Amino acid sequence: MPAGRYFSEPVETMERRALDALIDERVRYTMGYANEHSPFYRHWFRENRINPEEIQSHEDLLHLPIIAGRTIREHQPPVTLDFQFLSAGWGDVFTIQETSGTSGTPKSFFLTWDDWKRYSEKYARCFVSQGFSKQDRIVVCASYGMNVGANTMTVAAHRIGMTIIPFGKCDFASRVLSSYHPTAIVGSVFKLLRLAHRLKAEKIRPQDTSIERLVAGGESFADESRAYLAEQWGCPVYNTYGSTEGTMCGECTEFSGLHVPEDLVHLDVYDPQMKTFVRDGECGRAVLTTLLQEGSKCGTLLINYDTEDTTVVLSRERCICGRTHLRIINPQREAETFWVFGNSANRVDVEAGVFQHESMQYLTGEYEAFLYEGESHDEVVMRVSVECHNPDECDKHLVEERFIERFLKYKPGLARHYEDSTLSILLNFTGPGGLELHKLKGRPKRFVDRRAG
Ligand SMILES: [Zn+2]
Repeated sequence: MPAGRYFSEPVETMERRALDALIDERVRYTMGYANEHSPFYRHWFRENRINPEEIQSHEDLLHLPIIAGRTIREHQPPVTLDFQFLSAGWGDVFTIQETSGTSGTPKSFFLTWDDWKRYSEKYARCFVSQGFSKQDRIVVCASYGMNVGANTMTVAAHRIGMTIIPFGKCDFASRVLSSYHPTAIVGSVFKLLRLAHRLKAEKIRPQDTSIERLVAGGESFADESRAYLAEQWGCPVYNTYGSTEGTMCGECTEFSGLHVPEDLVHLDVYDPQMKTFVRDGECGRAVLTTLLQEGSKCGTLLINYDTEDTTVVLSRERCICGRTHLRIINPQREAETFWVFGNSANRVDVEAGVFQHESMQYLTGEYEAFLYEGESHDEVVMRVSVECHNPDECDKHLVEERFIERFLKYKPGLARHYEDSTLSILLNFTGPGGLELHKLKGRPKRFVDRRAG
């Protein structure tokens, strides 16, 4: 039974040289496994004139082509007759999972029990690095659907000896908190924020509940919204970034980036514009490669898979927590980034502007933003709607000023366009329930580009 600061201490604290040697050993086994069991990769190796036996180290991966989500969809039904990424016999496939499928057919992922062990190991390490132990009781608000997240977290909890309360949603009654005394909740920032507002409406202070930690995942968020959430609950909020493709990274108690479990998944950062991998400290897309332990099976393995999430490698040095595994910044979804006069703007930039400390006395935190073409062709209008507790009592001037200041802070290019009025930023204030996204089903987009073309 693991106790203390690490779930798998020897590997989590391994010296860089030994860790790199272990990674390279797993790269070699994984390439051999791919060549033997994955119809897609067997063909891919031949098509790209790659001899899998010549891929000896993680550095060799930098010379291989990149595949994307699209590649998986193009090699599964209904496009092809069979699942060409399936890399295990049906006798070894334990579950079939799917990604949420925001664009087209969901991607299918086949998990063997070995995969479940790897996925849950990653979550178990995150939980322990965030101070969890078998004393903890966690309400899981992440969905128990076709995604692997909530399910593999639950297996991780078993391995640590924790108790799981598997709601799968964040709409549970407050009696759950008063009856079971959970110590933590896993959910998205917005679900946890709405829960706090709901408790307050019931005259329950979130700070007075049994909750000691929150784990936020499912979408990227601004530091500002995390800080606000932490203040509302009076406890730390840890970021965990996971995907069905196999990334499960988490912040440790040092809050100095998310640790990537380097012995289980290899991560490189790639710039699609430059068509090359970038150095540590530079921003690009997270590209991952499954790493298999010698002798283990895998239902869907990925080599050089472009996650379409952008990140930066912060450090490969030992963290204060003692872990040696590299740390990355909170990944952002490329699909939530838009280009305005050649400058990038992500939903998280909008969120940071909304969650300014002084503004939050008036706002609920709910927001949506749209980009429109201006009156002339070279003008852009960004319209940001924020939900107020009471629009009549809101200091609109302050909220607007704080928003614009923060939104433009790290965007000198956009600031110039704002100065010369080719970029207009309009704030719109609504009462509770007044946003467009409240009228939409599913997980609506908060930042939408409505410019033509
Ligand atoms: Zn750490």
